[in-house]
Amino acid sequence: MAYLTLKNINKIYPNGYHAVHNFNLEIEKGEFVVFVGPSGCGKSTTLRMIAGLEDISGGEFLINGKRANEMGPREREVAMVFQSYALYPQMTVYDNIAFGLTLQGVDEDVIEKRVENTARILGLTDYLDRLPRALSGGQRQRVAIGRAIIRKVGIFLMDEPLSNLDAKQRVTMRYEIAQIHRETGATTIYVTHDQTEAMTLADRIVVMKDGYVQQIGTPYELYYKPANVFVAGFIGEPPMNFVRGTVKDGCIAMGDNRLDLSRKYAGIGQYEGREIVLGFRPEAISLGETDGYSVNCRVELTEMLGDNTNVYVSAGETQAILKVDSHDTPETDVDITFSIPLEGVYLFDAETENVIE
Ligand code: ADP
Repeated sequence: MAYLTLKNINKIYPNGYHAVHNFNLEIEKGEFVVFVGPSGCGKSTTLRMIAGLEDISGGEFLINGKRANEMGPREREVAMVFQSYALYPQMTVYDNIAFGLTLQGVDEDVIEKRVENTARILGLTDYLDRLPRALSGGQRQRVAIGRAIIRKVGIFLMDEPLSNLDAKQRVTMRYEIAQIHRETGATTIYVTHDQTEAMTLADRIVVMKDGYVQQIGTPYELYYKPANVFVAGFIGEPPMNFVRGTVKDGCIAMGDNRLDLSRKYAGIGQYEGREIVLGFRPEAISLGETDGYSVNCRVELTEMLGDNTNVYVSAGETQAILKVDSHDTPETDVDITFSIPLEGVYLFDAETENVIE
């Protein structure tokens, strides 16, 4: 039996706004699940329904197979970390971390041991006497996490915990959150709009858009087997390139290039005269004429990023980004040829936007 079950969960806010539609998910004990999607897609609403901070309008939420819709947050045994650290400014790090246990009336020596252990996991041992204002943003967020994990609850919920940190701190904290999860083994649900955070942290990712789940899968599945145009474009950086066009004689045009789709999909005949979307990832190509589809294009701009370069190209109306080894960076305003191997090509129905398999 799954540890957490969300069955057809819906959220309709009192003003009538339908924020979450038929959300279905089973989470195993110890799993790290990330909800990802653009701002306003319903991630936090879903998390808050799991936390017991928001009523569930329809459907059923089960913990260990037991209906939890009506349980209060405490009964659900959840701990939540928010984007704003919400630390008590006048309390030391020690007291901030200990606060929940102190409220519960836990023995002082038990609290001391637990705080010491939590501080060790989070690298805060040397900061226990400090006030929050004497800490960096990353350290404050660690205290907030410490306050949550010290309670040893079953479910650990995090809502955009890294948003207030700068880029470097985010990378460090991401690593630390992964380590904390490894050490505590706590079932974790983590909300972010950042696909990199989702890809690096998650055992499984739930991609959402406009209140609907788009796809659920491992980072590998989402990257290599996206279910639709949205997921394909959302996961991966720079995003997947898309070529839209009408199928003519089994081919789609990209500028002057004709790509013979029957090489990729034998059933392409049924799309004759209809619009289709062809996708390929910037990093899936190789320069020159190798295998798969060869494409002639013009280099508009290059961005040297270190080991690789983003090359912005155009072929007629179509624009694309190619990721190449920086040693092979082409000149701008010249014509080049690149190749897309067939296994790097995705086809989507332009109407439904679903992948064609
Ligand atoms: P996300 O976390 O993905 O950014 P939210 O779950 O916070 O999105 O919000 C989903 C949608 O629900 C948004 O359109 C938001 O404006 C709306 N919403 C959030 N809270 C309320 C509320 N209390 N009343 C009405 N609509 C809300």
